[in-house]
Amino acid sequence: MAVQTFASTTDSANTVDLGPAAALSCRECGHRVPLGPVFACEECFGPLEIAYDFSGYDTEELRKRIEAGPANIWRYAPLLPVPADVATKPNLNPGWTKLVQADNLARELGVTGGLYVKDDSGNPTHSFKDRVVAQALEAARAFGFTTLSCSSTGNLAGAVGAAAARAGFRSCVFIPHDLEQGKIVMAAVYGGELVGIEGNYDDVNRFCSELIGDPAGEGWGFVNVNLRPYYAEGSKTLAYEVCEQLGWRLPDQIVVPIASGSQLTKIDKGLQELIKLGLVEDKPYKIFGAQAAGCSPVSTAYKAGHDVVRPQKPDTIAKSLAIGNPADGPYVLDIARRTGGAVEDVTDAQVVEAIKLLARTEGIFAETAGGVTVGVTKKLIEDGVLDPSLTTVVLNTGDGLKTLDAVAGTGLTATIRPSLESFREAGLV
Ligand SMILES: *Cc1c(COP(=O)(O)O)cnc(C)c1O
Repeated sequence: MAVQTFASTTDSANTVDLGPAAALSCRECGHRVPLGPVFACEECFGPLEIAYDFSGYDTEELRKRIEAGPANIWRYAPLLPVPADVATKPNLNPGWTKLVQADNLARELGVTGGLYVKDDSGNPTHSFKDRVVAQALEAARAFGFTTLSCSSTGNLAGAVGAAAARAGFRSCVFIPHDLEQGKIVMAAVYGGELVGIEGNYDDVNRFCSELIGDPAGEGWGFVNVNLRPYYAEGSKTLAYEVCEQLGWRLPDQIVVPIASGSQLTKIDKGLQELIKLGLVEDKPYKIFGAQAAGCSPVSTAYKAGHDVVRPQKPDTIAKSLAIGNPADGPYVLDIARRTGGAVEDVTDAQVVEAIKLLARTEGIFAETAGGVTVGVTKKLIEDGVLDPSLTTVVLNTGDGLKTLDAVAGTGLTATIRPSLESFREAGLV
């Protein structure tokens, strides 16, 4: 990654108050710098992440404050890098999505220890991306940016467009030109600029890195590039919500989709914070990563026992997860191995089968990414890797209406004339 020390748009940007966030800290060498719109360590080029000072918190007071908070991610504001007065600013207020007790799916898969689907299709733009964008938006505001941008596999583009519309920002987002129609419409409808790039996501991302270094991109907040440390923290709220919804308890096993790997690493960070703060009892948990076989750089490295992730050229219907060169891949490998989890992949046919399985058992219509997590869960149980006697949470991170093509063969049971005779002839009674 190239070093980018992004010039602040205001002189005071580096001393801005971002709530309980204390500094940016390098994940590789631990070097600390003041909070600002930077994402790479000036010492070793490693990725920067938010470091907190939680020392003043009383566990029971914090629990009460969270429980009395709003039914969205801001109930966890004391644990997030946001300005204290966020509640008064226009934001889409995502989160606090349903944790569905999936007893029918559990029976089908032979899970006896409790199976839950965390259904993030219930967010404002119908994917988990609203969580991360909400954080990046507040950081953009604090740093004085007025244009929000991103490189996206589809869902992020929609989440940025919507958040920018509500907050009064300009938006200009970049996607691979050949995405699903549902994703393109969902990104374009909010009125921002949507640019299709002739290439895959990794080409789009490379283009955005160039744009950041160019005067053309000056003053732009790229939510997943120069605002990435703040953006990434949004994924912690998934971990917080799952634990709070389980009655302030850690799940034993959690199955998470992998695109860049950011979400998975921050779910681990969120669980670790809850343990440190005393909000949940400390016990072992396993994190499992899920990919599509047609874009499986992390599961390939996991199975080969490698520490480095070799880039792949994506070819899968799970386009929202189609990142061939995932930035957080090595950290995902660490977490899967440290927690006793695993990383697995499923074919496109298994993704489709899993979408239908979840829909038919629980009434949840997932996008292809949800097919990936449910499909991987099934495979890991069949292979004896995931323990069916333990409490298991599977993430569904997006809505099936965005990827209708994946289930294109699904349709009418019969076409009849409007008469009882014709209905009887159809053989349904
Ligand atoms: C972006 C995305 C993810 C996860 O992305 P990471 O880059 O790994 O954080 C998961 N599911 C859906 C539907 C997404 O759009």
